Amino acid sequence: MNIAQNIEKINTKLTPTNTKLVAVSKTKPAEMIQQAYDTGWRRFGENKVQEMVEKHEALPKDIEWHLIGHLQSNKVKYIAPFVSLVHGVDKAKLLKEVDKQAAKCDRVINCLLQLHIAQEDTKFGLSFAEARDILASEEFVAMKNVCVVGVMGMATFTDDKTQIRNEFRSLKIFFDEIKTEFNHLPNVDLQEVSMGMSGDYEIAIEEGSTMVRVGSAIFGSRVYSNQ
Ligand SMILES: *Cc1c(COP(=O)(O)O)cnc(C)c1O
Repeated sequence: MNIAQNIEKINTKLTPTNTKLVAVSKTKPAEMIQQAYDTGWRRFGENKVQEMVEKHEALPKDIEWHLIGHLQSNKVKYIAPFVSLVHGVDKAKLLKEVDKQAAKCDRVINCLLQLHIAQEDTKFGLSFAEARDILASEEFVAMKNVCVVGVMGMATFTDDKTQIRNEFRSLKIFFDEIKTEFNHLPNVDLQEVSMGMSGDYEIAIEEGSTMVRVGSAIFGSRVYSNQ
């Protein structure tokens, strides 16, 4: 397993479309992140607050940390001082909490609205209507310490490539629509469509992804244990 070579290989595929790579290091030890860091890589994704905080403390401070998973409101305070991008905003209440904690740190935190594009009901995310309601709300316009810079979505876990493609396509279409409708707001600057993982990032790129979140194809498969 050569982490640097894996990153290089994926980046080669991302270059023609200028798509950014988030190296998803969840469950992997800090040493593996350090290894990638030493070859010049700076953008990493984690899905657990505590794990990201511990890695942030242990590793160089110029790492760009992306929180890619579900985020509970009561944990926002731990990542607010340093998080670079929150991918999984799936509730107005969560956005409000990010705004509040960002204000305490005297910073603006960039966020993506997570849309539910998969057929499974196990995946988090807003409906298109709910996301629009957030952006159109007076409460949101008043938030000075968050900036909505894009959308994020996860396709259904399936071998049906057409279905995956259609789900990604629906997210890109929605992104283009809200860009027209809401980009004039002071805390909206829609640039990123975060979609694509190890198994489907090539389809995602073809469908307009600007940011892929790739873990196992870089760091190897993850072993989960309940013990
Ligand atoms: C784990 C995870 C990824 C990366 O998954 P791989 O299949 O290992 O590339 C991407 N996005 C989210 C939200 C994840 O939780």
